[in-house]
Amino acid sequence: MDFAFPEKVEQLRARLLAFFDEHIYPNEQVHRQQMAEAKDRWQPVPIVEALKPKAREAGLWNLFLPESEHGAGLTNLEYAPLAEIMGRVGWSSEVFNCSAPDTGNMETIERYGTSEHKERWLKPLLEGEIRSCFAMTEPDVASSDATNIQTRILRDGDHYVINGRKWWSSGALDPRCAVFIVMGKTAPDSPDRHRQQSMILVPRDTPGLTIVRHLPVFGFDDAPHGHAELRFENMRVPASNILLGEGRGFEIAQGRLGPGRIHHCMRAIGMAERALEKTCRRALERRPFGKPLAEQGVMRERIANARIMIDQCRLLTLHAAWRMDTVGNKVARKDIAAIKVAAANMACQVVDIAIQAHGGGGVTSDFGLAEMCRYARTLRIVDGPDEVHRDQLARMELSQYKPPRTEAQAAE
Ligand SMILES: Cc1cc2nc3c(=O)[nH]c(=O)nc-3n(C[C@H](O)[C@H](O)[C@H](O)COP(=O)(O)OP(=O)(O)OC[C@H]3O[C@@H](n4cnc5c(N)ncnc54)[C@H](O)[C@@H]3O)c2cc1C
Repeated sequence: MDFAFPEKVEQLRARLLAFFDEHIYPNEQVHRQQMAEAKDRWQPVPIVEALKPKAREAGLWNLFLPESEHGAGLTNLEYAPLAEIMGRVGWSSEVFNCSAPDTGNMETIERYGTSEHKERWLKPLLEGEIRSCFAMTEPDVASSDATNIQTRILRDGDHYVINGRKWWSSGALDPRCAVFIVMGKTAPDSPDRHRQQSMILVPRDTPGLTIVRHLPVFGFDDAPHGHAELRFENMRVPASNILLGEGRGFEIAQGRLGPGRIHHCMRAIGMAERALEKTCRRALERRPFGKPLAEQGVMRERIANARIMIDQCRLLTLHAAWRMDTVGNKVARKDIAAIKVAAANMACQVVDIAIQAHGGGGVTSDFGLAEMCRYARTLRIVDGPDEVHRDQLARMELSQYKPPRTEAQAAE
């Protein structure tokens, strides 16, 4: 087994790392400052916009999107080490047009959209001219079970009429967010619970859309990206905006959430690496009780454990990415479920070690650890809570050992 990345990936890694040294790390404080001084926190951040042309020039644009003429021609496995680097600085992915939820949405339109959808939405998304939002979760029902979704998408002549409530629609507050992928039910009475849902592309300027409020995360607004509660009232959308056809929403969700989830895991590994780096630097320089923190056995044990957890997760994530590339997202769903749980929990633990090592400083915004902590903790819920992934994983594991159904059982 060869653990080395191919030459083209090594070259991209080197270019990306150099870009971080030259443009991202030196601007972390600038980004913080611009956000602090922003009159309207939902507007694009000037430093991010200024860096985008430089990233394009450096050939670091749309690095995701496997098996597509539109991406950089990288597989999931090849993209992993690049997304990991982007995870080191929370806002950096957008500089390379590789941020959530746009990457997952672009992949959805690429895989399931018509040529008109691609022309109207995918093209400007790939150019970074517009942004997008994925609206599945609802406040009124337990949305970790997508069969509960209540939003109605009702056919009326050449249109669909949409009514419902959504929340946690990330990115909806960005004024550039021009298209929403909305999941709702076209056939709520269908006996097949997995064929009741559909997904439809909704232009932001459709009458009937209300942004009710932004949802803070642990009291922070997560601006300029943000998360919104939305209300859809008698929104009329052309019937041609439906993705793949009625009743295919669940199937698309399975396809869309795989790449979205693994991208989160890749970024979480990068974030954890950064947290460990900060832990080590702090431990070497801080001297409680007359000697560096790094000389305390408990600190060394935590550092060693963090290294073990990160490396375990990276290997598991690379393996899941390889499975996606070789057997497809659907067959690889067990591997994706495993890394979604592992990476989110690993990130929580490693960031917690970093916070503890920084004492009071760890919970300020000065070291970026509070932001990491927020992201890591939400990751145990975002794109499906831990329990749901564990449940699915266990079911797939158990299914291998279940006795085959008898003829009598099958006839029941
Ligand atoms: C920061 C953030 C960003 C998000 N972005 C988006 C987005 O862009 N688009 C979008 O549509 N959604 C988004 N979400 C929503 C997220 O995907 C949902 O919150 C998640 O799927 C869980 O759904 P729920 O909140 O309805 O929880 P519920 O379904 O009500 O579940 C509540 C809890 O029940 C437990 N539980 C559920 N099922 C089981 C089980 N089988 N066994 C044991 N326990 C179980 C879990 O602990 C779970 O956390 C985001 C959420 C956050 C926090």
